[in-house]
Amino acid sequence: MLYIFRRLTVSFRMIDLHTHSIFSDGELIPFELIRRAEDAGYKALAITDHVDASNIDFIIPRIVKAIDRIRSSVSIVVLPGAEITHVPPKMIPDLVKEARSLGARIVVVHGETIAEPVIKGTNRAAIEADADIISHPGLISTEDLLFAKEKNVSLEITSRKGHSLSNGYVAKEAMRFGVPLCINTDSHSPSDLITKETAKRILLAAGIEENRIDSIFENAKHLVEKALRRT
Ligand SMILES: [Zn+2]
Ligand SMILES: [Zn+2]
Repeated sequence: MLYIFRRLTVSFRMIDLHTHSIFSDGELIPFELIRRAEDAGYKALAITDHVDASNIDFIIPRIVKAIDRIRSSVSIVVLPGAEITHVPPKMIPDLVKEARSLGARIVVVHGETIAEPVIKGTNRAAIEADADIISHPGLISTEDLLFAKEKNVSLEITSRKGHSLSNGYVAKEAMRFGVPLCINTDSHSPSDLITKETAKRILLAAGIEENRIDSIFENAKHLVEKALRRT
């Protein structure tokens, strides 16, 4: 009975807190990305375009404005966000603060993926700066895993080609140390959006046991609730 009750309390719709629009290198304008996500059966979506010091004050206010205008016309929760990308670690705290003050409700830091030459120390700086999520954290160290747990910063399992190469390591180490996980698509095109069933299969393929899967979806829900509480 308890098992059935738990299954019913977890929504079967996808929560995806890492996607890109044409405001960085995605293919879709925000409204189309939102429409595609709605049509794909999403429950919640964050638009988190790549930002650095050059474009942060250009992009975030526009994403905020688009979402404010469409909010009452869509059936899904849409959150303005940002992905702080290839920024020298010592500049990350200021940019996280700036992103939040501009209205980003989900702040992702583009983590130390093995698919790109991300500067060492980026994962650490993201945790220190209280980012919400470190995307594709690559071969994150034990010290950083423990620090992420302490600061309640979520690590990402990703469906994105290349970045997903380290999913197995991230899943194993996060489970070992009790670090919160979420699963996102890092969508750049409409075909990158996935169903929750596919998300579940990706988590299982990363080596996560079936009985731990719901806790990952629950954590995504908590991230959305926390984001909605931000003023
Ligand atoms: Zn990224
Ligand atoms: Zn991304």
